[in-house]
Amino acid sequence: MSWSNYHGHCYYCDGKEVPEAYVKEALRQQMRVIGFSCHAPLPFETGWTMPADKLGAYLAEIDLVSRKAPKGLTVLKSLEVDYIPEIMRPNHPEIQALELDYVVGSVHYVDRLPNGKHWSIDNSNSEFKEGVDTIFGGDVKKALKRYFELQRQMIIEGTPDILGHCDKIRMHNLVHPHFCETDDWYVQEVQSLLKLAAENQVIVEINTKYFSRQAMFFPSQEHFKFMLDNDVRVTINSDAHRPEALTDGFSVVAGLLTSVGYEYLWEWDGGLFSPHRFNNEGIVWG
Ligand SMILES: [Zn+2]
Ligand SMILES: [Zn+2]
Repeated sequence: MSWSNYHGHCYYCDGKEVPEAYVKEALRQQMRVIGFSCHAPLPFETGWTMPADKLGAYLAEIDLVSRKAPKGLTVLKSLEVDYIPEIMRPNHPEIQALELDYVVGSVHYVDRLPNGKHWSIDNSNSEFKEGVDTIFGGDVKKALKRYFELQRQMIIEGTPDILGHCDKIRMHNLVHPHFCETDDWYVQEVQSLLKLAAENQVIVEINTKYFSRQAMFFPSQEHFKFMLDNDVRVTINSDAHRPEALTDGFSVVAGLLTSVGYEYLWEWDGGLFSPHRFNNEGIVWG
């Protein structure tokens, strides 16, 4: 039994190390599959996406480490692609042309600030507040509804294989309580997204990026039972930016998933994702 991770970043975007360093750590942990999903380039400046002129080298380097990987470890080539209407989507022709193994689709940007800049919900608390105030007239509920609406649009129009950190906007509640995560309207927003993912066979990752610092998962474990009841396909991803974080919190998440009744995780095996039994020590491979 061993783990896999399909969402991770290396030094081609905002990840810290060369791809080889993650492969080395994956081997040390006897992982079965490791997928690289650097932030796909965007046609405007960000603090974390890959510059467009590095894309070719990234793909070539992942191909190389994949070919060199010892038997028993599968290395996959992917990108975390933004959904920004009219600008980028996981199934954009430029992305499809890259023939990736799979695509992680995420929403980091919601509409634009009055100065024309794309508003990131994945940045500082002050930038979060600036967007809520200037785009949505200070109405957090409106901002959140737009965030979830964009993710639903991404599921329909962008067809990612994996939905990335689907309620990451909660990170701002760590700094200051901006909204109540148990309010009916909020729960309904999350649930309608999760249901849509299930209906479209999009795998929903349980993202553990904030586990070591904040003991937080995206989506929140509050939704795990609803996800099971609605046949949401899940996998566990670390969104690692450092090799040491490759399987952060996986045992804990696996335990929470089994405790609500989940029996299968969706895992890459033989060229596609399929359901595999698991427990808190890892995945049972065929
Ligand atoms: Zn992301
Ligand atoms: Zn990521």
